[in-house]
Amino acid sequence: MSSMNQYLSLVHGLRSKASLQRIFITAFTFLSAIACSPETTPPTSSDPTPETSSGPKIVTTFLPVHLFTKAVVGETGQVDILISPGNEVHDYQATPEDAKLLAQADVLVENGLGMEAFLSDLVANAGNSELQQIDSSKGIEAMDGEHGHDEHGHDEHGHDEHKHDEHKHDEHGHHHPEGNPHVWLDPVLAQQQVANIRDRLIEIDPDNADSYRSNAQAYIEQLQQLDSEFKEKLAPVQGCNFITFHDAFPYLAQRYGLEQEAIVEIPEESITPQNIQRIKQITEEHSVKALLTEPGIKDKRVEQISSDLNLSLEEINPLEAGETDPQYYFVAMQGNLEALLRACQ
Ligand SMILES: [Zn+2]
Repeated sequence: MSSMNQYLSLVHGLRSKASLQRIFITAFTFLSAIACSPETTPPTSSDPTPETSSGPKIVTTFLPVHLFTKAVVGETGQVDILISPGNEVHDYQATPEDAKLLAQADVLVENGLGMEAFLSDLVANAGNSELQQIDSSKGIEAMDGEHGHDEHGHDEHGHDEHKHDEHKHDEHGHHHPEGNPHVWLDPVLAQQQVANIRDRLIEIDPDNADSYRSNAQAYIEQLQQLDSEFKEKLAPVQGCNFITFHDAFPYLAQRYGLEQEAIVEIPEESITPQNIQRIKQITEEHSVKALLTEPGIKDKRVEQISSDLNLSLEEINPLEAGETDPQYYFVAMQGNLEALLRACQ
């Protein structure tokens, strides 16, 4: 039942005919796969090509890279995930099972930009000298990890309207030394991540190059279509300020000419009176209408802030948890677009 509901919400969440078409194709392929049970069907003598033979055993770190990798790999190989959706990503502690998984894997795909701080120790513990690593954010220039304030506080406006931000990181120890890692939430940077995964997989497993190429191309086209839709629909609300729970949307904001402010940098941080004071100040300085919380946030103060500051409460999805079907990216991002439009009306 739940997969049928997911399927229906998938259909409802998508707007364009082309996307719907893909969903039906996906659903058809899925149903055909059940009907035919290809794993148990021996290869026929008329088709000796080994192109769909088992590809490398791939392990991904967390949801977005998992979605992108599965999109590129398609049916060719096995793709596992270290941090199952629902486990907190930013402060993840690796387990002995993770080391076992990596010990048996051929390829490890990560987001990079410091998101997976646990990874270097884990890789060392796994003791797999053959393991090939893919950094999906290779070549992407990170924004400042400290809420990205320098970008819009100084570079664009050239004045000190965010001066009150300068000392706030003394209050806690969390920051991303390698920059903000949430590049997957920008549909343009996501294309680069998919291309990086594709290119490295082709190097590692050239036998399946054609399949990686065509799968990646189809997914990148969907991402391009998503980017066009974001551009078109957000164009009328340029400069809109929105407040998110955690600092996950600076790339998306910058891409589409919006301004994101976050209450905390990562979800594990507790909300301090200083955080609330800063949000209050920003709300007063700019015309902020909405606070975008996210699925699974339990801190009651988010609701408190929204009612105290008269901000409507919307939900935005940083894709750090969710469904593992590659199409889930588009469902979640469509939801995010709608939430942003409501926040910026
Ligand atoms: Zn995050």
